[in-house]
Amino acid sequence: MIYTGGTIGMTEDEKTRALKPIDFSYMKEYVPEMARLDFGIHTVQFEPPVDSSEMSPEKWRGILSIIEENYCRYHGFVILHGTDTMAYTASALSFMLENPDKPVVLTGSQLPVGKIRTDGKENLITALEIAATGNGDGNAMVPEVCVFFQNLLMRGNRTTKLHADNFNAFDSLDYPLLAEAGTRIRFHPHLIRKHDWNRPVKFHYALDDNVAVLKIFPGISSATLKSIFSIPHLKGVVLETYGAGNAPSGKWFLDPIEDAVKRGIVVVNVTQCASGLVEMSAYKSGQSLENAGAVSGKDMTAAAAITKLMFLLGKNLPVEEVKGMIPQSIAGELS
Ligand code: ASP
Repeated sequence: MIYTGGTIGMTEDEKTRALKPIDFSYMKEYVPEMARLDFGIHTVQFEPPVDSSEMSPEKWRGILSIIEENYCRYHGFVILHGTDTMAYTASALSFMLENPDKPVVLTGSQLPVGKIRTDGKENLITALEIAATGNGDGNAMVPEVCVFFQNLLMRGNRTTKLHADNFNAFDSLDYPLLAEAGTRIRFHPHLIRKHDWNRPVKFHYALDDNVAVLKIFPGISSATLKSIFSIPHLKGVVLETYGAGNAPSGKWFLDPIEDAVKRGIVVVNVTQCASGLVEMSAYKSGQSLENAGAVSGKDMTAAAAITKLMFLLGKNLPVEEVKGMIPQSIAGELS
């Protein structure tokens, strides 16, 4: 279990009443059930544990190196993480950890484990059980990076945080659930990624953060577009567009994009909608964006798209190759 921080392990600051992350020993006190599970659990703690707003490519590399150093020793990994950026971390790790044969389950909670009505205990205990579940052949049931929250097991790079305070904070709107936890855990093996035994497990650390996300809105100015696309060293932009990938079709909007594409900047088109597919050929407004050189992010979440861009750009591939890989699935992130 890798404890990175987040509400699950937080306590109230006596003066300000604001929640702040604290040491993992506190968690053990509040979840004595962990000692009753019929498998061993070892814990590594981030120093210091953080609110997940502090997450960064550097910290993702830190999590990955803990997994790599311990990979052969354990059946699975549970990452305790704040909910705010859990979908980003799950997406990033799904690219950085190639072809895993073991589960990496991220979980957290909306209320700290020290609170009577906490959702943290259930989330933690069930995530641990999932990470330890085999498929009967001696292999892991869920060999992929996933998120477990409020009874739902989801593919990590398909998740979105939809609620700021409800216990059912996450959903996977474009890919079915991998499992549901009730009185027993019902896995859906046909939806779970298969490990390829002919290929090695690989750990990738290179991520390029010369990227940006731009959410368009009625009223966005050409000056805003131009200033984003002139950020020094910029290599990729995730453009959050309307509906099926539509955007204004005037020159004031398209020219800065076309110019950026000509300068080698990769522009990925994803939808602002909570679910659904970008199909730039469906409307004239989408077609003009395609003609300007934007690439379809299909049904990727914005979190999956931005972390995939960081991952692909980190490989130093020719720009055309990066563009070619955007609409293709690497880790089940798109349909
Ligand atoms: N701010 C917290 C975090 O993301 C929220 C949470 O854990 O639910 O670290």
